[in-house]
Amino acid sequence: MDAATLDFLTRIVDAPGPSGYEQPVMRVFRNHVEAFADSVETDVMGSVAASRNLGGSPRIMLAGHADEIGFQVRSISDTGMLYFGMIGGHDNAIIVGQRVTVHTANGPVAGVIGRKAIHLLEGDEREKAPKGSSLWIDIGVGKKEEAAALVSIGDCVTYAESMVRLQGACYAARSFDDKMGACVVAEALRRIDAAKLQGCVTAVATVQEEIGLRGARTSAYGIDPNVALAVDVCHAMDFPGADKNTVGDIKLGAGPVIARGANINPKVCSLLVQVARERGIPYQVKAVPGGTGTDANAIQVNRAGVATGLVSAPVRYMHTPGEVMDIADIDAAADLVAAFCEAVTADIDWRPI
Ligand SMILES: [Zn+2]
Repeated sequence: MDAATLDFLTRIVDAPGPSGYEQPVMRVFRNHVEAFADSVETDVMGSVAASRNLGGSPRIMLAGHADEIGFQVRSISDTGMLYFGMIGGHDNAIIVGQRVTVHTANGPVAGVIGRKAIHLLEGDEREKAPKGSSLWIDIGVGKKEEAAALVSIGDCVTYAESMVRLQGACYAARSFDDKMGACVVAEALRRIDAAKLQGCVTAVATVQEEIGLRGARTSAYGIDPNVALAVDVCHAMDFPGADKNTVGDIKLGAGPVIARGANINPKVCSLLVQVARERGIPYQVKAVPGGTGTDANAIQVNRAGVATGLVSAPVRYMHTPGEVMDIADIDAAADLVAAFCEAVTADIDWRPI
């Protein structure tokens, strides 16, 4: 990955954007794509769509969701502790003791997720993951009024982690899921060779995927694409003790993952495999028997149906503050998506006949 792409990836991953609070991420996305897109539009949901070759046929939609999981302040106790709700799916076993950032109108406020210490837990409490409603965020004040002067009900919260390099091309971050997808669709849009492009390509950073694929649904309706690709993370099954039969033999560093199954138009899947082979892009194939839990699901069943594909990049420890990825997979995913767009022509009949 070149330095400019890595810089964009780092900035978009580190920008806060829990579902419904994506504005800071979208500012990063918008500023980046303005340099090479023919048009950049933000819709009423907050999703940002950047297009090239306006008026071209067919209409190709690329979707990477820019939201991340997080928390939301629900109430403040008399002693100034913040009780919170979950935005998206969390593993409660890992959230105690995490450093968090409360994103307030007046800027970030640092906090820690609290629970009574292990020594004080009794019986069953020791074995089970805590309920989210039994945890709190401690921002270091002693009174409700002190907390309320800093934080408002409804403020969103993220883990405080920033992206960090591990060894080689491996990085850890709190929200590769799915800022990396928003990065890939932007980067693919930039990399497309205009001389080879027939279609109009719209790369969308979608909102609210983590709470029900909500932004992709409205964007797909508005854009009305003939063909679409969603880009998201998928589970790498190369961690100790992984049962490959549950997901497949998916590895970090072995290239982007092309999904196959009911959620995927078979001709889109075949074309992805074909362009990967032609361009020498490494790839893996994942079998998904039903609907995927990604934007591809919402896009495929929009209007009268959209020929939809899913390109993923493997991640370990999804939905934790330490998601691990190999950025070579992200880079190759952008190449694959760009090559796919160049290969799409107006005369392709996407019906599976
Ligand atoms: Zn997710």
